[in-house]
Amino acid sequence: MKISIIGTGYVGLVTGTCFAELGHQVICVDCDENKVRMLQAGGMPIYEPGLEELVRKNVASGGLRFTASTKEGVEQSQAIFIAVPTPPLEDGGVDLSFVEGVAREIATSMTTYKIVVDKSTVPVRTGEKVAETIKRYCKSKVEFDVVSNPEFLREGFAVSDFLHPDRVVIGVTSQRPVQAMKDIYGPCEAPIIVTDINSAELIKHAANSFLALKISYINALSVICEQSKANIQEVANGIGMDARIGRPFLDASLGFGGSCFPKDLSAFIKISEQLGYDFALLKEVQKINTHQMDRFVKKITDTLWVVKDKTIGVLGLAFKQNTDDIRMSPAIDLCHRLQKEGARLRAYDPKAMEKARAVLTGVEYVNDMNEVADGCDALVIATEWPEFKKLDLERARRKMTHPILFDGRNLFDAAGMERLGFIYKSIGR
Ligand code: NAD
Repeated sequence: MKISIIGTGYVGLVTGTCFAELGHQVICVDCDENKVRMLQAGGMPIYEPGLEELVRKNVASGGLRFTASTKEGVEQSQAIFIAVPTPPLEDGGVDLSFVEGVAREIATSMTTYKIVVDKSTVPVRTGEKVAETIKRYCKSKVEFDVVSNPEFLREGFAVSDFLHPDRVVIGVTSQRPVQAMKDIYGPCEAPIIVTDINSAELIKHAANSFLALKISYINALSVICEQSKANIQEVANGIGMDARIGRPFLDASLGFGGSCFPKDLSAFIKISEQLGYDFALLKEVQKINTHQMDRFVKKITDTLWVVKDKTIGVLGLAFKQNTDDIRMSPAIDLCHRLQKEGARLRAYDPKAMEKARAVLTGVEYVNDMNEVADGCDALVIATEWPEFKKLDLERARRKMTHPILFDGRNLFDAAGMERLGFIYKSIGR
């Protein structure tokens, strides 16, 4: 099928590339002309494991191309996927101006029947607004269907999540676009849930809020574990083996971040409020997440006593492993807070240093994870990159002014760290 994707970011580029891999003819559109030129020249604007190879392969075979013209994308496709940002507003609500803008552009470019698929994360009932907008701005009164198809991929695992999803959700107002949507996703061989459009939109916010709730639950338990000398990892394993609960998302840490959970949680609280329901449970999820970072910073300040002029090495800047994405990264937040206390920072991340440099200044960026420790009064692990487990701890202990390690991701064994001579503080252990 001929498909266009409007918005070629973390979601749009993965979606377009994977659809091409599944055998469709795809045009990825982005209003950022630099990004389009970069992609046309074979460059990659983001890091996502396996994506670059797949882009190259599908561009070479002619199944994937890039343009800055929405008109071109719309004219040359039967299905148009919207994957533009839906950032938070000051009041926690969702800025839908990007989605509205694209709906208008689609409306003015359509000359034949189109399926307009919303993949951006949007509040329930946005599909109705998109349909109204297209009707209003489409002068030639062309027929179309609006579909909601929320995306559940995880950055860092996006390609495999997209090609092998747990389920595909398709929200529709009529049966007309259903077969085409099934054909698009058919090669994934995933369960497809066809539902009304409002339910599809709600599924996305409900899912992300539940996942955030699960993280805050384990983080709250980590506080209880610390106070009672229990071990959060043992507790997580013990409850996670219950099939009704499940082990994923039960890793205690310094808190969640990223471009989705914080904003989707705020959005869902706001949406619920507008629908007359005070979702106090989700407000508590936010509060626990904020407290978790506060508690981690306090652990550092209590141990170092005076942070001013101490040198702290930070391992990890991305909001999670396997990505260069630093949007709402707890690691960046932590660095800003330590800088505010007067700390001098040395930092390393395998993929996110270039993006971090734009928002985090006054930091000495180091190109080798082992060298971060040199001359430091303390080391902090802020992102769960698997390679940090291979840190040369003997070397770190020798090169540090004081061997103090704050592990915000519980990567190391506490007893082993103490045997190595570290003062080791982790989460819930
Ligand atoms: P992103 O910022 O990485 O990418 C969005 C792209 O859209 C940018 O390249 C931007 O230049 C482009 N764009 C903006 N306005 C445009 C326009 N009018 N025409 C063409 N291009 C335009 O954002 P993202 O992380 O890919 O997120 C996109 C949507 O998907 C959001 O609603 C997000 O909540 C949702 N989502 C994200 C993830 C994730 O892990 N990042 C997962 C699921 C859902």
